[in-house]
Amino acid sequence: MRVIVDEDICIGCGRCEEICPAVFHVDAVSGKSRVIDEEACDYTGCCEAAEENCPVDAISLEE
Ligand code: SF4
Repeated sequence: MRVIVDEDICIGCGRCEEICPAVFHVDAVSGKSRVIDEEACDYTGCCEAAEENCPVDAISLEE
């Protein structure tokens, strides 16, 4: 699965990291979420929940 965070849209709220810490990490310098391990989507199954709960729809998933 491809996971994309649109950093122009992300507001750095940290919700994706709370829901799916194996995949998302909010960078302390940029204040934006970035994908640290895309493969982890497949075995954690939490990427869909992160996408659904992003308040600004910055996360995109592609099969
Ligand atoms: S939930 Fe969305 S807005 Fe919040 S840090 Fe993650 S990608 Fe950014």
